[in-house]
Amino acid sequence: MDPVQQLQNMSALDAAHHIHPFCDIKDMQKNGTLIMSRGEGVWIHDSLGNPYLDGFAGLWCVNIGYGRKEVGEAVLRQMNELPYYNTFFGTSTAPATLLAEKVTGYTSGRMNRIFFTSSGSEATDTWFRLARIYWKALGHPSKKHVIARRNGYHGSTVAGASLGGMKHMHEQGDLPIEGISHINQPYWYADGGDLSPAEFGLKVASELEAKIDELGEENVAAFVGEPVQGAGGIIIPPDTYWPEIQRICRERNILLIADEVVCGFGRLGRWFGHEHFGFEPDMASVAKGLSSGYLPIGGVLINDRVADVLAQAGDINHGYTYSGHPVCATAALENLRIIEDEKLVQRVRDDIGPYFAERLKSLEDHPVVGQVETVGLLGAIQLAKDKTTRQRFQDVDLAGRTVRNFCYKHGLIMRATADRMLASPALVISREEVDAMVRYMRHGLDHLAEQNLA
Ligand SMILES: *Cc1c(COP(=O)(O)O)cnc(C)c1O
Repeated sequence: MDPVQQLQNMSALDAAHHIHPFCDIKDMQKNGTLIMSRGEGVWIHDSLGNPYLDGFAGLWCVNIGYGRKEVGEAVLRQMNELPYYNTFFGTSTAPATLLAEKVTGYTSGRMNRIFFTSSGSEATDTWFRLARIYWKALGHPSKKHVIARRNGYHGSTVAGASLGGMKHMHEQGDLPIEGISHINQPYWYADGGDLSPAEFGLKVASELEAKIDELGEENVAAFVGEPVQGAGGIIIPPDTYWPEIQRICRERNILLIADEVVCGFGRLGRWFGHEHFGFEPDMASVAKGLSSGYLPIGGVLINDRVADVLAQAGDINHGYTYSGHPVCATAALENLRIIEDEKLVQRVRDDIGPYFAERLKSLEDHPVVGQVETVGLLGAIQLAKDKTTRQRFQDVDLAGRTVRNFCYKHGLIMRATADRMLASPALVISREEVDAMVRYMRHGLDHLAEQNLA
């Protein structure tokens, strides 16, 4: 069958039977589906053979790039040896055990335990329960409340969507659930006013202290944040922010949780985002880059302070059928072997990260660009109507969508959160591919400027 016909058939089947995440079903049925069929490095091809430079590593996850046959081969071997066994009743499998040792090893002794899940959302639900179990075991059952941030993202389960700070998610399904509050995010460009970024970082961090006072320290279990907010728009906090958050958590005796689902496994040029910002979480959720998305697996890293108390808590009645799934764990082990062998974390820190920063920064001269911020291989282009006054476009979503759609049509996949253009490419991206990405982006920005939006 000819490929166009084939795509039309596939698209019709999809519209008839497949409900997608974060999608308007009606729009999707009208516009049809783009079927992706093949990937190599940072390139993905649709079923008609059109190539796209994937500036987003799938969904922030394909850190080693597409098409790494070694992962498939390792997975096939494990699949034929033992496709599944559970970790519930005092049993384990070699891949799960070896992966636990490997991942905790990257924390330099700060977090010596991991609980496995199949996703970032399940990791969120896991630490949410563990934090409450921890305080109860210590004789403080009232310490239950968790403080998170507006515009944060921690997944799509009930706890995940509640802890996340996305208004459009809260509006559906009566969220957040009880026992969760939000403070402001460290988004200097939008909210910093006349403060310097350093001053602003301290000011938003102090909202945590105020919230603890309001709720009563005896009722607060934990604070959670992504080292860099991903889905919220790659909001990179000022350097003053995380040390101050850590000080408050320690002084007020609440657990500090890092959501490392985007930042973990090299994205910021370190194994974990908290290393870059200089803080030490009590628990940290991971997923995405743990397996580069080749198979679904996530987990919660746990430090000794928490693990020692959990060990006194008796039965912990929490777990997933696929916790520590041996085939997924094998994919993760092979992914981590590649990251180590190819020194991808160091590459991001010392080589491609600085190059990416320099090239992306070159877009700051563009009239519709207010600011370019990067850390490691995360980059955000803040759009602006008037860059001298930090005035933004009236319809921020339209501005972002205009650039994103233009880029997509011309073969560059990037994402927009309101008026921030986001890039998060695979850690294997070459300098030439970074150049190509920035060239496409500039065309997208030119296109926006031509629209003369209010
Ligand atoms: C993607 C993401 C999650 C949720 O992970 P899923 O695997 O989609 O459940 C949680 N936290 C952050 C920061 C994420 O980016």
